[in-house]
Amino acid sequence: MRCPFCDFQAHRMDLHTHLLEDHEQEVRVFIHKVTGKMVYEYTCPLCNESWRKPLKKRPAALQEYVREIRMVAFDVFLYHLMDRHSEDDGE
Ligand SMILES: [Zn+2]
Ligand SMILES: [Zn+2]
Repeated sequence: MRCPFCDFQAHRMDLHTHLLEDHEQEVRVFIHKVTGKMVYEYTCPLCNESWRKPLKKRPAALQEYVREIRMVAFDVFLYHLMDRHSEDDGE
């Protein structure tokens, strides 16, 4: 699979690690101004589809869980990449 943010290419697991290490800021985690709840948001750079999901964690727990949240978000994002943007290389 190819990283949608740069030219890095790797199998799914390695790409997941790469996303977390090099592109963690692509998943924005913040407290929603209106609801006061934590949400995460990210946009696919290939088709501009974006996702915003509320989180059950308390805002106070943000720093503690932000990496975990990104791990889950990138996992979902990788499924999107495979579904919508996969090349015919069988990976
Ligand atoms: Zn990359
Ligand atoms: Zn996309």
